[in-house]
Amino acid sequence: MKKRVLIIYTGGTIGMKKTDKGYAPVSGFLGEAISAMEDMKSERAPEWDLHEMSPLLDSSDITVKEWNKIAEVVYRNYDNYDGFVVLHGTDTMAYTASALSFILHGLNKPVVLTGSQIPLSEIRSDGRDNLITSMLIAADGVANEVCLYFSGKLLRGNRAVKMSADHLVAFDSPNYPHLADAGISIKYNYSAIVKPVGKSFEMRPFSDVPIGVLKIFPGIQFGLFESIMTKKLSGIVLETFGAGNIPSDGGALIPIIQKAFESGSVITVCSQCPSGTVTLGAYETSSALKSAGAVSGFDMTTEAAVAKLYYLFSMNLTTDEIKHYMEQDLRGEITTA
Ligand code: ASP
Repeated sequence: MKKRVLIIYTGGTIGMKKTDKGYAPVSGFLGEAISAMEDMKSERAPEWDLHEMSPLLDSSDITVKEWNKIAEVVYRNYDNYDGFVVLHGTDTMAYTASALSFILHGLNKPVVLTGSQIPLSEIRSDGRDNLITSMLIAADGVANEVCLYFSGKLLRGNRAVKMSADHLVAFDSPNYPHLADAGISIKYNYSAIVKPVGKSFEMRPFSDVPIGVLKIFPGIQFGLFESIMTKKLSGIVLETFGAGNIPSDGGALIPIIQKAFESGSVITVCSQCPSGTVTLGAYETSSALKSAGAVSGFDMTTEAAVAKLYYLFSMNLTTDEIKHYMEQDLRGEITTA
């Protein structure tokens, strides 16, 4: 029997058409474009249905609400399909992939996010390969986790980052091996794929928690950020230099972090470097962060750290529990050993 895949179309370049105001997603167009693709009619292609989200969005407009809506479509249709392909704009695809990896708890089927840099409606579109290969991966049932397929690489969703605004090879996962490489055949990297853990599948939607990301730069005037860090934000991702370092600046940031921590904010330290890990305490400039109550994001991407903060703050946990879980590996998003 043929495998069945549900395509969930959220918007993004892959289904866009040229309009007077530039490229924009147009309802109904993607279904026609996919039906016309020879590859999709092949004997080897899985059967598919299309679920078009409404409204279709440029992925810059995707919010927590859409993450929950996409997850709900997967959840409601879970038993009827062998796998899911989520067509999404590239700009925030790594954020959505990270978010879905937390919302879809106990997932045991592939959910593959993909899109394209050139619309299907245009010559040389990379969307054709991205779509058909994602369909085959979703039907294979080998990578039973939230993944991101783009230009020959299958990546863990919560390890993926958008690396290029214009190259067709637009994504990579600098801190984690590819789950598969698609050349002449699709070669899975079995040892890198999440092993099923026998948990029952459930959906854990996110609440709209106030989360912030602060990128440290030379000369940063920490005082300017004090009121948002201490009063307004529940979770903060600090993008620090190298292995977790910040400018000493007369210790200006530390009392702010301490105050934020005392008022219940969870500050997670990630690195601005795409590869490598945060090691709090390796340098004098980072050990103060640790003593002030910040937690290490180790080698987590900022995208994954943001999604994880949403997830944990949506779960009715105490601040200490959230701090604890931020440093644990929950969905393969972090290397802790
Ligand atoms: N702005 C588009 C989006 O993210 C870019 C793309 O799809 O590649 O929706």
